[in-house]
Amino acid sequence: MKLIVGNQKTYLDRDKVLNFIEKTGKVDCSNVVICPSYPYFELFNNKSNFILGSQDVSETGLGASTGEVSAEQLKSFHVQYAIVGHSERRSYQHEDSNVLYHKIKCLLESDIRPIFCIGECLEERESDSTKDVIGKQILEVFDRLEKSEIEKIIIAYEPIWAIGTGITPVNDEIMDTTNYIKDLVNDKFDVSILVLYGGSVNKENISQLGEISAIDGYLIGGASTKADEFLEIMRENSK
Ligand code: PEP
Repeated sequence: MKLIVGNQKTYLDRDKVLNFIEKTGKVDCSNVVICPSYPYFELFNNKSNFILGSQDVSETGLGASTGEVSAEQLKSFHVQYAIVGHSERRSYQHEDSNVLYHKIKCLLESDIRPIFCIGECLEERESDSTKDVIGKQILEVFDRLEKSEIEKIIIAYEPIWAIGTGITPVNDEIMDTTNYIKDLVNDKFDVSILVLYGGSVNKENISQLGEISAIDGYLIGGASTKADEFLEIMRENSK
């Protein structure tokens, strides 16, 4: 069974979260991580079986960082995974490799597994530079880490042009890019890294994506906010 990570972003208000939990929270979620907005951590902890993840983390620890949430604080809510470097944060918050390195370090020190997002934009894909772009995104961070740290990271390959668009690469392309990522990390750091695919995963394409043996799971945005669709995805993944 592949790992499913739901990134609910800022889609749901409190009533909608409660409704989502009521419909989904009692099923077997042993391979399903939900990353809700911070105010909903307690609701998921108290009322659901999902593994708790975070959509982000502060690049500094406990202290004077107004508006941030530190890795230690996440840990105190039993967060086990945290997304780092989502393309929306790279783009809107201008997070670069240096910031992402510090975020990953903070997570590892609190024993939280980072889900490190990488991916190319449409122009980069069209100019055939996908592998150069994602290779650089990986190495700029991994070159500063120990092997024992890299082993705890999960990579989420998310082509930016596939996020929220309903368009996905064909299976062979996902397979090829995933194998490139795995080979790069294996050759350079001697680590067998887990790779998730993200970008418009939904109930219609989940069974087809399930045929890609190289991927270890999915990072799911929009479809993770709709209880019925998410349940269908979970069911299909457990076949
Ligand atoms: C995402 O934002 O990480 C994502 C994969 O979104 P969506 O599933 O909506 O494309």
